[in-house]
Amino acid sequence: MARTDAIVLGAGIVGTSVALHLAKKGLAVALVDKRGPGEETSYGNTGVIVGASVFPTAFPRSLSKLIQVALKRAPEANYHWGDLLKIAPWLYAYYGWSTPEKLKDSAVKLRPLMSRSVGEHKALLEESGALKYFRETGWMTLYRRDAAFEAMKPQLEFGAQIGVAAQPLDTEGALALEPSLAPVFRHALMWPDVASLSNPLMVTRAYAARFSALGGVVLKGDARSLHRQNGNWRVDTDEGPVDAENAVVALGPWSSDVVEPLGVKVPLGIKRGYHRHYHAKGNAALSRPIIDTEYGYAITPMEQGIRLTTGAEFASRDAAPTPVQFDRVLPHARELFPLGEPNEDEPWLGRRPNMPDSLPVLGRAPGQAGLWLAFGHGHWGLTLGPVTGRLIAEMMTGATPFTDPQPYRAERFS
Ligand SMILES: Cc1cc2nc3c(=O)[nH]c(=O)nc-3n(C[C@H](O)[C@H](O)[C@H](O)COP(=O)(O)OP(=O)(O)OC[C@H]3O[C@@H](n4cnc5c(N)ncnc54)[C@H](O)[C@@H]3O)c2cc1C
Repeated sequence: MARTDAIVLGAGIVGTSVALHLAKKGLAVALVDKRGPGEETSYGNTGVIVGASVFPTAFPRSLSKLIQVALKRAPEANYHWGDLLKIAPWLYAYYGWSTPEKLKDSAVKLRPLMSRSVGEHKALLEESGALKYFRETGWMTLYRRDAAFEAMKPQLEFGAQIGVAAQPLDTEGALALEPSLAPVFRHALMWPDVASLSNPLMVTRAYAARFSALGGVVLKGDARSLHRQNGNWRVDTDEGPVDAENAVVALGPWSSDVVEPLGVKVPLGIKRGYHRHYHAKGNAALSRPIIDTEYGYAITPMEQGIRLTTGAEFASRDAAPTPVQFDRVLPHARELFPLGEPNEDEPWLGRRPNMPDSLPVLGRAPGQAGLWLAFGHGHWGLTLGPVTGRLIAEMMTGATPFTDPQPYRAERFS
C-alpha cells in the first residue's frame, strides 16, 4: 500500500491541472485514471481558451428555435427520443437557468475564473515546454444575417460592463484576417482576449509530464474503487492500493459514478458533441477557431487538420454515437471554407459535463471529510482546467483562494 497526501481521480485537463498545482505546492500526489492523461473529453474539443466569453451557452427560449430542435431540424442541437424522459429533469433545470437574468448572474460568477484562464494556461504551458501549441490569435464568430448580429448587441453591452472585449468586423475586415473563408456571412466579431491550442491532448500530456517531473505519480486504476479505509480514502490501482487523507473527484462526465454512491447528489448533465478532422483543399488555411453562429458548428486549425466540432446532443452519456449533425452542418461548413476529405473513418464522440447553471462544482464534497469536487465545466473545461487547479490547490492547502469559491459550492443545488 502506498501513502500520499492526495489522490486525484481523473487525468483530463481538470484533474491533471489540479494534480500539477498540488505538486507545485509540495504535496505527494497520485493521479489515477483508467486511461492515459487527456484521452477523453479533453482530447477532442475545439481547443479554445475562452478568456472572453459573455453568456454561457443557453437552452433555446424562442418558440421557433424550440420547434426546430423538436423536429430535429436544428443543426446546433440533436437529441435521442428514447432518453428524453430520463434527462427531462436536467433539461428543465437548464431551461430555468437560461433566462437573461440568470445568464448574467452566471456570467458574473464565471468571470473571476474566465479572466485568468489564458494567463494560467500560459504559465503552465511555459513550465511544461508546451508553448508551441499555444496561439494568441483570438477567435472569430460569424453572423450570416443582420438580425443575428443585431441580437448580439445586449450581450456585447453587458460584456463591456464585465470587461469582455469584442471587435465588430464587416465581411471584408474578417476576410483580411482569414483570407481562406468565403464571403457567405455579413458580420463578424473578433474576440482578441481568446487563445487556442493546436493539440489539446498533447497539452494535457505535457502537464502530466511536468507533474511527474515534480515527483507526482500517474497510475492506472478504476476510480469507482474509492472507499474509506482506516479514516483515509483508498483507491485500487494497477500498482496496488493507494491511501490519502484527501481525494479529488475530477472525472468530468463520469464524476457522478463515484460521488453518487457516496451520497453526494449534484445535477450533472451531459451534452454530447462530435468532431472530425478534414484536409484543407489546396493551400487554404485558418489562423484561429471560427464559429458559424447560424449553424452552430466550429472549424479550428489543429495539428491533425481542420477540426470541425458540433453543438450539443442531448442523450444518455453511454448511448451509441449518432453523428447526424455532421450531415446537417457539413454543406454549410464547405460553403464557408474549402474542406477536403475527412482524415478519420468515424467522427469522435465527446461528453461535456454540464451543470444546469453552467458553473463548475468546485470545493469540498458535502458530508464527506477529505473529499473534494472539481467537475462540471461544461463547454469550457479546457479553458478552466488550470485556473481550477490553482483554486482547488489553494483551498486544499489552506492558502487564501484567489477568488471567493462560494458560487461554485455543490450545496448551491440543495
Ligand atoms: C465537441 C466539444 C468541443 C469542446 N470545445 C471546447 C473548447 O473549445 N474550449 C473549452 O474550454 N472546452 C471545450 N469543450 C469542453 C471540454 O472539452 C470539457 O469541459 C473538458 O475536457 C472536461 O475535462 P475533464 O478533465 O473534466 O474531463 P475529461 O477530459 O473527460 O477527463 C475525465 C477523466 O476521467 C477518466 N475516468 C472516467 N471514469 C473513470 C473511472 N471509473 N476510473 C478512472 N478514470 C476514469 C477518463 O478516462 C478521463 O480521462 C468541448 C467539448 C466537446 C465535447
